[in-house]
Amino acid sequence: MPRQLFVTTALPYANGNFHIGHIMEYIQADIWVRFQRMQGNAVNFVGADDTHGAPIMIAAEKAGKTPQQFVADIAAGRKPYLDGFHIAFDNWHSTDAPENHAMAQQIYRELKANGLISSKVIEQFFDPEKNMFLPDRFIKGECPKCHAKDQYGDNCEVCGSVYAPTDLINPYSALSGATPELKSSEHLFFQLSDPRCVAFLEQWTQDGRLQPEVANKVKEWFTVRTNPDGTTSEGLGDWDISRDAPYFGIEIPDSPGKYFYVWLDAPVGYLASLKNLLDKRGENYDAYMANPALEQYHFIGKDIVTFHTLFWPAMLKFSGRKTPDSVFVHGFLTVNNGEKMSKSRGTGLDPLKYLGLGMNPEWLRYYIAAKLSARNEDIDFNADDFMARVNSDLIGKYVNIASRAAGFLAKRFAGQLSALSADGEALTSAISSQKESITAMYEQREYAKALRETMLLTDRVNSFVDANKPWELAKQEGADARLQDVCSTCIEAFRLLSIYLKPVLPALVAQVEAFLNVSPLGFADADRLLGAGHTIGDYKHLMQRVDIKQLDALFEPPAQAEPAQAATETVVPGGEEIAPTITIDDFAKVDLRIARIVNCEPVEGSTKLLRLTLDAGEGRMRNVFSGIAANYTPEQLIGKLTVLVANLAPRKMKFGISEGMVLAASHADEKAQPGVYVLEPFPGAQPGMRIG
Ligand SMILES: [Zn+2]
Repeated sequence: MPRQLFVTTALPYANGNFHIGHIMEYIQADIWVRFQRMQGNAVNFVGADDTHGAPIMIAAEKAGKTPQQFVADIAAGRKPYLDGFHIAFDNWHSTDAPENHAMAQQIYRELKANGLISSKVIEQFFDPEKNMFLPDRFIKGECPKCHAKDQYGDNCEVCGSVYAPTDLINPYSALSGATPELKSSEHLFFQLSDPRCVAFLEQWTQDGRLQPEVANKVKEWFTVRTNPDGTTSEGLGDWDISRDAPYFGIEIPDSPGKYFYVWLDAPVGYLASLKNLLDKRGENYDAYMANPALEQYHFIGKDIVTFHTLFWPAMLKFSGRKTPDSVFVHGFLTVNNGEKMSKSRGTGLDPLKYLGLGMNPEWLRYYIAAKLSARNEDIDFNADDFMARVNSDLIGKYVNIASRAAGFLAKRFAGQLSALSADGEALTSAISSQKESITAMYEQREYAKALRETMLLTDRVNSFVDANKPWELAKQEGADARLQDVCSTCIEAFRLLSIYLKPVLPALVAQVEAFLNVSPLGFADADRLLGAGHTIGDYKHLMQRVDIKQLDALFEPPAQAEPAQAATETVVPGGEEIAPTITIDDFAKVDLRIARIVNCEPVEGSTKLLRLTLDAGEGRMRNVFSGIAANYTPEQLIGKLTVLVANLAPRKMKFGISEGMVLAASHADEKAQPGVYVLEPFPGAQPGMRIG
C-alpha cells in the first residue's frame, strides 16, 4: 500500500518577496516530496501566503493599497521563484481565502464548545492619532534596562532584555510618533494552561515524533522554574488570540469588532490550501482527512517552533482534528560564513538575481542538499565551497561519467548497450545494493549523507573508467566488445546514480531520462539494469560549470541608483525618518549645555554603561550613565567637552541616579552600522554654555 502524505512548508508572511531562507526551506521540502513520490507514495504538497495582521495592514496603507490588493500583488510575484527553483507545490493559496475564514471560525467554535476559550480585560497601548491598538513591534521607546533609544516594545536589540511594551521609557507610536495611551480591552484567550492541554502536549511533544533537540527545547516550556538570569518560567500560559478592530484578519464569531490574531489563522491555512486543492480536483476533503493512515508533516524554521509544537497541535486536538505526525525543524541559512550583509553591500543571496544571472537552479538545490541534515542547525552558503562542490563533485564526478561513455556507444555501436562482464556486473550491483541505505537517508531528511554516499559510488565508477581507459580501447584492434562492455557499464551505472540524485536534480534527470530513452525513473528501477540491446539516445551536454564571474556578480552590491531615480527615491538619513516637525518653542524646552567630562569609569555589573562625572558650570558635579562602554574607554573621554541634556528628569537606575544624558550619534540599525559617536564642541566652548 502506498503511503498517503500531506506535506506543507511554513506559510511566508505576505509583506515581501521570498528571500533565500524561504527558498532553502522549500527546496528541503520539495526534495522530500519528490523522494516520496519516487517511492510510489501519494503526496499532497501545499503552500499559501500568510496574509493577515497589523504589519500587512500598515504596509498596505503606506503603499496606498487595500490589504487585499497588497497581498494579491505579493502573491502574483511568487511564481518566478517557485518555478525557477523547480519547487513543485500542488497548490498555492491564501489565508485570506474563504476556506480559511470558514475553517478558522469553525475551529474556534469547537475550542469554545470544549470550554477552552476564556476572556480577560487587558491594558494595551493605543495610538490616539491612528485610533488603533498598537502591536508590540509598533511601539518604540527607551530600553528600561540599558536605556538604549528606539527599542521595540517586546525586546531590546542592544542588551537583549525582554519586557512588556508598558515597561518602555518615553514610549511612542512608530506609526504616528504620538505618545500612546493605555486603554483596556477585552481579549479572548485559548486556555493552553488547561490541564487537558498540558497533559496532551507533554505527551505529544515527547513521544518521539519531534527531533530530539526540538523536543528537549519544548520540554523547558512546561516547567515552572527560575532561570539563570533571574527571570521565571511559569509553564504554559494562556494564549491571547484576539485583536481589536481595525485589524486585517478573520472576524471572531459572536465577538463584534474582534479579529483572530494572525497566528491563530495562519496554520489553519495549511488545511485551507489542501481543501482548496481537493475541491478543485473534485475530491472530498473530509474523507481525505478521515483516513487514519494519512500522515501530516510541516517543514518549518526554528523561529516558529512554539506555534507549531504547542498552539497548533492543541488547536487541532481539541477541535477534534488530526494532529501532525511530525514537525520538521530546520536552522537558518547564513551567507558567506554568516557575514552580515548591509543594504549598501548587497543583501546576501538574492534568489531572483541568482536566476537572472543564468545560474542553474539545480546547482543551488544540489549545494543546499549537500549541507542539510535532519538536525535543527544552521547551514552556511559559502561561494568557494559552492563552486567546488558543483564543479568537482556534481559535474566532475557524476555528469562526466555519461559524457565519457556516450560518444563511443553512439559512434561505434549505434547507441546499443551490451551485456556486462563480471567486473561491470559487480560494479553496478554494488551501486544497486546501496538503494536501501540511500532511501533511508532521504526518508530521514539526511540529504547530505545521501549525496555523500552517492558521490562515493561515483568515485568507484570513475576508477573503473580510469582502469579500463575506453579512449585507448577505442584505438586497439579487436577490443570492440570490451569497449562496448565498458561503456555500457558506465551508462548502466550512470542511470543508477541518476535515480539516487533525482529528488535533488529533477530537471537534470529529466534530461537524462530522455537521453537514456527511459520512462521517468523511480527507486524501484534501481533493482534492474537496462540490459543488452537497449538503445540510448544522443548525448547532449547536461550541465555547465559554475563560472567564478557569476559568483562575483551575484555578490556584487547593487549599482548606485541613477541620479534621476535618486531624486524620486526616499533617502532615509541614518536609517530613520526625520521626526515630525516641531516648533522653536518645542525645541527651547530642551536645555542643552556644554559639560566637561571630569571623570569616567566603568560600571560594575554592566558591559554597556559608563559612569560619567560632568561639570556643567553649575558649581556641582552631575552623575550621568551612558550606554557607550562598547565604543569608548574612560581614558578617551576624561577631560573632553561634550553636550548634556541638562533638564532631563533624573532617572533612578539599578546602578544609581542618572542626572541627564550626553548626546551621541548612531545609525538606527546598529547591527548594520555599529558605532556610537559622542558629540564634542569646537574649541572655545566652556562648561555651562547653552546650545541653541
Ligand atoms: Zn536594552
